Amino acid sequence: MESATQPEATTGSTTNGEATVAAAETFDVLRPVDGSVIETVEVDSPERVAEACARARAAQPAWEAIGFAGRRRWLESLRDWILANQDRLDDLMQRETGKVRADATLEAFYCLEAINFWLDRGPEFLADETVSPHNPLLRAKRAKIVYRPFGVVGIISPWNFPVILSLGDALPALVAGNAVVIKPSELTPLTLIEMVRGWREEVGAPDVLQVVNGTGETGGALVDEADYLQFTGSTEVGKKVMERASRTLTPVSLELGGKDPLIVTRDADIERAANATAWGGLLNSGQICISIERVYVEEPVYEEFVDRLRAKIETLRQGADGRGYSAEIGAMTSPAQTEIVTEHVEDARRAGARVLTGGRRKDGPGDWYEPTLIADADHSMKVMRDETFGPVIPVMKVSDVEEAIELANDSRYGLGSSVFAGDAADGERIARRIEAGHCNVNDVLVNYNVLGLPMGGWKDSGIGVRHGAQGIRRFCRTEALTIPRLPQAKSEPVWFPYSARKQGLVGRMYRFLNARGLRNRLGL
Ligand code: NAD
Repeated sequence: MESATQPEATTGSTTNGEATVAAAETFDVLRPVDGSVIETVEVDSPERVAEACARARAAQPAWEAIGFAGRRRWLESLRDWILANQDRLDDLMQRETGKVRADATLEAFYCLEAINFWLDRGPEFLADETVSPHNPLLRAKRAKIVYRPFGVVGIISPWNFPVILSLGDALPALVAGNAVVIKPSELTPLTLIEMVRGWREEVGAPDVLQVVNGTGETGGALVDEADYLQFTGSTEVGKKVMERASRTLTPVSLELGGKDPLIVTRDADIERAANATAWGGLLNSGQICISIERVYVEEPVYEEFVDRLRAKIETLRQGADGRGYSAEIGAMTSPAQTEIVTEHVEDARRAGARVLTGGRRKDGPGDWYEPTLIADADHSMKVMRDETFGPVIPVMKVSDVEEAIELANDSRYGLGSSVFAGDAADGERIARRIEAGHCNVNDVLVNYNVLGLPMGGWKDSGIGVRHGAQGIRRFCRTEALTIPRLPQAKSEPVWFPYSARKQGLVGRMYRFLNARGLRNRLGL
């Protein structure tokens, strides 16, 4: 059930309503729960991407000039518009992703919170910083770091959280004074298109937020045009984006794949650990970059943990719940991903793991994979090494915590992790040894909601972070300023002309300041 692209020329405008170059072709957006076509969307050619970026670039200086207070007005109006339209937006989100209602609502909730967070903290994170010069001879200068927006930020996003991972990253970029052009995933562009339409037509906000649609060609064109590029997606495509950005020396932030481990120690609260693993591994059908993708349990509590986890998973309901909150597990959004999930489960089965529940792609219309628990997994299996990105939890028995830490770190990825231990201090000691961008002690996924914490990956999981002070500063260039505090002479001792007497004085000064010990300082 591939998303069919029909290479038929069409005319008309982009989703921003002002393009002059004709669209080259279209693609269909499908409904994952039954495979039907929801809407056909025009592909934006590289020329149309250039047009969208030019519109954004033209609008950006005025957006920067209105300052935080001016930008606050528009972003608060967007927040109110999202609240007023949330049911409608959640419906659309469910249609294009196959999420259950509770998971779909997370997208708007995140945006509401993030708008308030960046509006409140952004001015503080981007305030000028004063630096005290280390050299007493430079104390006559005021030294400052100033954060200035890049101009046009390009955002390329995936299909698993189509709004959180696109508009969510656009918010700090906009607060910082940038214009933003987003290329959403071709599988799930509709809710974002509607939100950008709302921004322009109903909020009446400036042209600083644009959408372009298409696949890799459209994304590549955005890399060429943007002044800064935020990419969220697979490690493989992330590397291509970085390579392309090197042609224009465009800075990038890459939020890539993960294979997050969860460790359960022998003295942990096993019931909480099992409940957390079920939610952290199966929320959004496991299609989350920071999903729990592999579990290591100390031998004395292994059977109890597996039994509790199995019992929990077997209570979960799968289906299309509309507005009903009557299911926990939705459909798979990308048929290509379901192929990978199927391959990982079959590989584990062949290698001797026990599939205790689930383990099957469902028959019938749409794309559904059962919530699945795999026991007795090990590192010879794909399901423990490669990103599965589906509703599958593999569990491995370990003899002690040392083995668990070693295996948790035995991965090319390093996005996130969790540790369940009886004592929070023990959990923290383990957390500090894990090679990943975050670790939640006795919890899962919760770091994503602490918007003041940086969120990003180590190793093949990426470069750069979203959230926290760095999460907004990445969208700015730094400018270093020196400003005189005192009236100034017509010339400085180190300026021209050079002479033996002046250079001797300068040399003695550097020696005095940098040598240690009085005799050494005086050159005795
Ligand atoms: P993907 O890499 O296939 O696609 C991501 C985006 O890149 C899409 O919009 C796609 O059209 C675009 N694209 C494809 N080829 C391109 C090219 N050559 N140049 C520019 N753009 C191109 O990823 P996906 O399948 O949409 O998403 C799933 C992946 O995203 C998983 O690996 C997941 O772990 C990762 N992800 C990471 C995070 C994070 O924060 N680290 C969050 C969510 C998802």
